[in-house]
Amino acid sequence: GGSGSASTIKQVKLERESELRIEVGNDAPLRLRLLNGTAEIFGTELPPEIWLNFPPRLKFAVFTWFGATIEMDGATETDYTADETPMVSYVNVHAILDGRRSRAKASPPDDSDASQGPRVIVVGPTDSGKSTLSRMLLSWAAKQGWKPTFVDLDIGQGSITIPGCIAATPIEMPIDPVEGIPLEMPLVYFYGHATPSNNVELYKVLVKELSGMIERQFTGNTESRASGMVINTMGWIEGVGYDEKLCSMLKDVLKSEPKVDVVKLQRSGGVVSRNAKVRQKARSYRIREYFYGLSNDLSPHSNIANFSDLFVYRVGGGPQAPRSALPIGAEPAADPTRVVPVNINRDLLHLVLAVSFAKEPDEIISSNVAGFIFVTDIDIQRKKITYLAPSSGELPSNVQTAFICDDVAGKCLK
Ligand code: ATP
Repeated sequence: GGSGSASTIKQVKLERESELRIEVGNDAPLRLRLLNGTAEIFGTELPPEIWLNFPPRLKFAVFTWFGATIEMDGATETDYTADETPMVSYVNVHAILDGRRSRAKASPPDDSDASQGPRVIVVGPTDSGKSTLSRMLLSWAAKQGWKPTFVDLDIGQGSITIPGCIAATPIEMPIDPVEGIPLEMPLVYFYGHATPSNNVELYKVLVKELSGMIERQFTGNTESRASGMVINTMGWIEGVGYDEKLCSMLKDVLKSEPKVDVVKLQRSGGVVSRNAKVRQKARSYRIREYFYGLSNDLSPHSNIANFSDLFVYRVGGGPQAPRSALPIGAEPAADPTRVVPVNINRDLLHLVLAVSFAKEPDEIISSNVAGFIFVTDIDIQRKKITYLAPSSGELPSNVQTAFICDDVAGKCLK
């Protein structure tokens, strides 16, 4: 390990089928380049000799199939080489998927079953490397010219957009090791919490909406259909030892599904575990990154609107009305998918609001979102709200419907 190594240039020679595992230091970025041989980061090949800049705290591995020399410049939290990795089993999965894609492509497009490429769902406990495996499978597929769809159901540590969302996006090129998933028009549904238990019903409804939308987009798009999808999930299986049982449990549940294969894969020793605090921090950074870019290279616009220009809703009914506030005989009912209008007041300060494509409140649940705004000021007297919006201009010109993101509030942006 090169723990706390000084900021000097250092060369690392990697033997075939080994990897260099790196955690960039907390304060400064790390420069790295491939000097000779071939190497990849989570499925994406490194260009020869070009310096790449990795932002602070990024954790990644440079893997080589045939041997490589890597040059690093900068301080790392840790860096070490490992020659035991599950990469061969991962690439074998890719090879099988690739065969299925080719078969789907060769099938008559009107045979909706045969022309559907593989749909992979990656499940496992938190910190088992699900996102990383998803990423490799997508990048390897894209390298071969496929356009697989990435579906990220992880509302806590998702990699498409800010936390609290489920999202999907086509992957047309190997994923950039620094920039991550490209953000061109992802399909995003807003849930507003970082864990599903806050409103399981709403989570299920949104997953259904997203899948329906992808299904519609797939119809008539033979290329996307044949390429299939990779679905990342969250570490939803809690409890020590459960991971051992997950595979047999799934096999049992799915035994009557002839078209589903359950494949058990090993966790990579390089996957870095993250505790609750680190996860919370990571969520804040994701929100910051949405507005300011990975290395503070974006400048969000500050906008001012009248209270009357903005309609804010909360999904799930919010805090329940006390029994005393209800008509006599009425039971307090919490409809998990109820859409409730919210008065604009100082409670909205420093919250992230999702901007919906919905035209009417009753379309909110079934509508995807255009993007997010961050409330920076509420002027009660003048009835004005000031908010940040991303500079990429992806939001509808007049923010019509926004809704509240409860526990993914953007405190990081204050
Ligand atoms: P969660 O369920 O919490 O989202 P996960 O199972 O998706 O976690 P990943 O996000 O894939 O786990 O991995 C956790 C962290 O470990 C990430 O920062 C990732 O970049 C890092 N990581 C994964 N594999 C390696 C490796 N081989 N070497 C170094 N770092 C790695």
